[in-house]
Amino acid sequence: MDRKIPPFLFFIFLSLFSIVLTFVVFKPFIFEDISINLGLYSIGKLAGLLSFLFLSILIISGDTARFFDKFFGMDKIIKFQRKFSLITAVFVIAHPLFFMLSSGNYLNYLIPNFVVFPLALGTISLYIFVIVMICSSLYKRISHQIWQYIHILTYLLFFFSLYHAIKIGSDTKNIFIKSILSILLIGIIIGGTYRAYYKIKHKKFKCYVKEIKWETKDTFTLILKPNKKLNFKAGQFCFLRLNKNKLYARHPFTISNSPKGEDLHFTIKLTGKFTKAASELKKGEEVIVDGPFGIFTLQENNKDLIFLAGGVGITPFMSMIRNQLKNRCRNNIFLFYCSKKEGETIFKSELSKIKEKWLKIVYIFSQEDSCSEICEKGYINKEIIKRYIPCINSSIFYICGPEPMKILCKKELKSLGVNNKNIITESFFW
Ligand SMILES: Cc1cc2nc3c(=O)[nH]c(=O)nc-3n(C[C@H](O)[C@H](O)[C@H](O)COP(=O)(O)OP(=O)(O)OC[C@H]3O[C@@H](n4cnc5c(N)ncnc54)[C@H](O)[C@@H]3O)c2cc1C
Repeated sequence: MDRKIPPFLFFIFLSLFSIVLTFVVFKPFIFEDISINLGLYSIGKLAGLLSFLFLSILIISGDTARFFDKFFGMDKIIKFQRKFSLITAVFVIAHPLFFMLSSGNYLNYLIPNFVVFPLALGTISLYIFVIVMICSSLYKRISHQIWQYIHILTYLLFFFSLYHAIKIGSDTKNIFIKSILSILLIGIIIGGTYRAYYKIKHKKFKCYVKEIKWETKDTFTLILKPNKKLNFKAGQFCFLRLNKNKLYARHPFTISNSPKGEDLHFTIKLTGKFTKAASELKKGEEVIVDGPFGIFTLQENNKDLIFLAGGVGITPFMSMIRNQLKNRCRNNIFLFYCSKKEGETIFKSELSKIKEKWLKIVYIFSQEDSCSEICEKGYINKEIIKRYIPCINSSIFYICGPEPMKILCKKELKSLGVNNKNIITESFFW
């Protein structure tokens, strides 16, 4: 499936909508009164309608992210939301700003005027939007509970803005605008219901710490025992939350064991506060697991699988290899595993013990000259890839590792003539 087509269609639709909206809003200005004031007022109106449209898309895409994850991937949805919220902010601010400029009355738009109740709700919506934006940018630092309240605020923001638009908007009687508002309202109801249904269904799923196993001096595997089996695909990740030390924000980690297992393994490198707190969990403590998510999974085809892993980026590949060991149908796998030193290579002893014809491994060490297995010195490059992979065209490449390594690998593969659709990447840094 080409994952680029739906976003492309989405932007075409959005542009068409915006063009029609512009025409509807600017009709009086074009045909009746070409004055500066009406021009500024029309820009303000257009900004208001577009900001409401964009805001609704943001809320709906957030509520349905878990559903659309299987089509686009959670990382793409989160990145889209971040960028789209900035565009939305521009229109939200432009809406009152152009009205102020056209009327010369500033306070009416900055201080809620309850004499004109729908106008007051518009001003309050502006402030709610600012609060939501500030909290979103502080997301990793605020508690999950506060984050949940913020989410309720976004619904309030939607309904306040809708009421404001219907009561005060001069174009809301237009059939085109009426239809858009109705579609957005239906979208919000469906999205909100889906989110609530998911949350209720997922509430019963509980995971407890079974064991913490140290893999290297700074990497450990957190083994969780769920109260019922979680169905996932090798390569997918979950969001973890610890109700400990106020570390409420959810952090994503890939499941490193095979989907056939009963437990859930997360192999985690110590990076900061959250990973440190996770390494100190005690047996029996609860960990809140939300998932599985992600589309960094194997596609069904006969191609050879070439894995390019860097450091802790080995986790999705470990799940795939462990899964293949349990499956009958097997693809050839070639693993290029980059790390600094042999002693820092996660799962090295387990990988060395796998003596299957379908698995070949080359270690690439940036700070070591030799090792006990087949290895290369330095960083991965096209010469190394070409040396071990003779049939580049019948292979599909999966990359997971630090950002610089991912960028380098993509560049080298492209220079070897690998088609974009045969390069699949996972990002550990959003
Ligand atoms: C899809 C995905 C899968 C991942 N799988 C693994 C894995 O299997 N093993 C592993 O060790 N790491 C994995 N990571 C990275 C891991 O999520 C971060 O290293 C971890 O959240 C860092 O938290 P910290 O507080 O310890 O470190 P910090 O010092 O707070 O953060 C270090 C970096 O981690 C990222 N990060 C921090 N908090 C979040 C958050 N809430 N959401 C998203 N990114 C965040 C940021 O880029 C930040 O710069 C994965 C990340 C993603 C996106």
